[in-house]
Amino acid sequence: MPKSDLILLALDESQTSQLFERALRAASYSTAIVHDRAALDRILQDSSPALLIIGERIKNEEGMLVAKALLERFPTLPILLFTEHDTPNLVKEALHTGVSGYLYPPLLTNDIVNDVQHSLQRARHMGDWIRREIKRTTTSLERRVSELETLVKLGRAVTSTLDLDSVLTNVVAAAVELTGAEEGSLLLLDEASDELYMKASHNFEEGFARSFRLPVRDTLAGKVVLTGKPLVLNEAEPQKIMTAYLIHALIYVPLRLQHRVIGVLGVDNRTPQYIFSDHHALQMSVLAEYASIAIENAHLYQISETERIKFEATITNIENGVMILDSEQRILLVNPAMRAAFGLNSAIVDGQPVLDAVPHPDLRALLSQNIQGRSKCHEITFDDGRVFSGLHTSIPGVGSAITMQDITYLKRLDRLKSDFVHTVSHDLRSPLTAVLGYTELLGRIGTLNDQQSEFLDRIKASVQNITALVNDLLDLSRVEAGFDARGESVQLGEVLRLTLDNLQNQIDEKKLHLHLELAFNLPPAQGNPIRLRQMLDNLVGNAIKYTPSGGDIYIKVRPEESQIIIQVTDTGPGILPADQPYIFDKFYRASNIPADVNGSGLGLAIVKSIVDSHSGRVWVESQINQGSTFFVVLPAHEPSTPP
Ligand code: ADP
Repeated sequence: MPKSDLILLALDESQTSQLFERALRAASYSTAIVHDRAALDRILQDSSPALLIIGERIKNEEGMLVAKALLERFPTLPILLFTEHDTPNLVKEALHTGVSGYLYPPLLTNDIVNDVQHSLQRARHMGDWIRREIKRTTTSLERRVSELETLVKLGRAVTSTLDLDSVLTNVVAAAVELTGAEEGSLLLLDEASDELYMKASHNFEEGFARSFRLPVRDTLAGKVVLTGKPLVLNEAEPQKIMTAYLIHALIYVPLRLQHRVIGVLGVDNRTPQYIFSDHHALQMSVLAEYASIAIENAHLYQISETERIKFEATITNIENGVMILDSEQRILLVNPAMRAAFGLNSAIVDGQPVLDAVPHPDLRALLSQNIQGRSKCHEITFDDGRVFSGLHTSIPGVGSAITMQDITYLKRLDRLKSDFVHTVSHDLRSPLTAVLGYTELLGRIGTLNDQQSEFLDRIKASVQNITALVNDLLDLSRVEAGFDARGESVQLGEVLRLTLDNLQNQIDEKKLHLHLELAFNLPPAQGNPIRLRQMLDNLVGNAIKYTPSGGDIYIKVRPEESQIIIQVTDTGPGILPADQPYIFDKFYRASNIPADVNGSGLGLAIVKSIVDSHSGRVWVESQINQGSTFFVVLPAHEPSTPP
């Protein structure tokens, strides 16, 4: 024992304290003496005494309480309590506090030294034991940390790679490493043959692993598949995995995919010395989870890959052009048909702003329309005569899609049809005029009886109907061809007055109530006054035609920003929702028109053509049996625009 150990004495100034000092110094211990708590704390801060002898009282404090407080801070410091009297209660309390021992008079030098030596020795043994325990616990912790590191590494590999074979081989290798087994395998269920085959292995001969097949029935691995429970065996007698394959110790844990057991992860030992613990079984369960995740990932990847390939094949082979854009109108995907339409080379890269890559004015116009809620169309024409119908549709969560359909052929047909209608209508007008002329003459060349006069009136009315129809057709083909798309400043209030003057007779005849609201600050519209008059004639004419006698008609014209909004509302039969999308088509008449209302189905087609040629919009809102409102929005005339 090194005699230079420092013994700290916390005692009252007395004969006894000198006795302690003398006895300990004589036994070659260093000593330090303090007489109050503050000095004791100071010295404990600066030095590490090997032992403390504390009196029953130091200054005003109880030695036992001080000892108790010190042991909380220095649990391994041996403390001897010096008491004046040897009372059983005091001894009990001292031992309860955790002091190493106690001393009481009469004090002999030898007793003091012996007690000190004894306490120091015990403290040393205790220290050794603590150090050993720490080392043991540290080693065990280190082992656990290394196991966890292996598991974490494996976890990362499972989520970062889609190479299933390599992940599963790593899982089996980790199972062998962590359990200290001789060999390991991962068996998957072949449902068709109800057998297990070896998907991955460690320390098995390759040929054996490849040809390994095990029936589910009556085998240890099969039992795990059927019960879904892990199996741990540690047997002195060898057990049969399969014919001529014997083991002494084994762990099999089930592999699950969406609650279904799809295989088994196993490790085994063929030599009898080594046994597996519950901890090993737990580690195997964690590894089985990893393997299941890897299998699930691979499964999901395969599904998404199949879908991707299908999608790519569709997008590549579809005849329509398709382009997907993100929310900032940057290109995400362009299909070959779209590339061919715009003559794009492969230098167009994903992520490029679409209008930088494809600076086509019609595409710009298509993209500039607001597509919140509904798709927008715009024709895209090329200098070589090709015409495409472009559709811009919002795709929530992605951005939008542009699809383009080649309508060059349809456009050509439409033109041929318009030319045909124009020619035929023109050719029809001359004979009709002749027929009308002769009906006039008939009355003049002789007296007609009542029946002849009535037939003549009917002929006249029919010819007038056909003439009106032919005129409508001619107008339509003119507007569609854009022959008279003049752009001048038009006072819509004046045009409307002409329309109403012309239709006043019909309004009076049907005793309709007309309500007119014309904004006083209405700016002029921009367009062709004749066509705008025709548009109003048709809309107001329809309102009169379809409103029953005594009904109401409301006409409102007001400006909004740089536009003029015209509203024509009636209290007629309304239009069924199913008919509404078609009423602007040529010759379309809704299914609910009253039997006595004549018409050709061309009026609204003319309105739509006129509005389109004025860069405006027209639509209807209608409630069945309550009435309809036709809205027309036209751009106001801009003063800078030359008339
Ligand atoms: P029509 O000569 O038949 O009136 P239009 O082209 O003017 O042809 O109108 C097409 C169809 O739209 C009409 O046949 C009718 O079914 C419906 N329609 C048009 N205006 C009204 C209206 N004000 N109220 C009810 N239905 C209407």
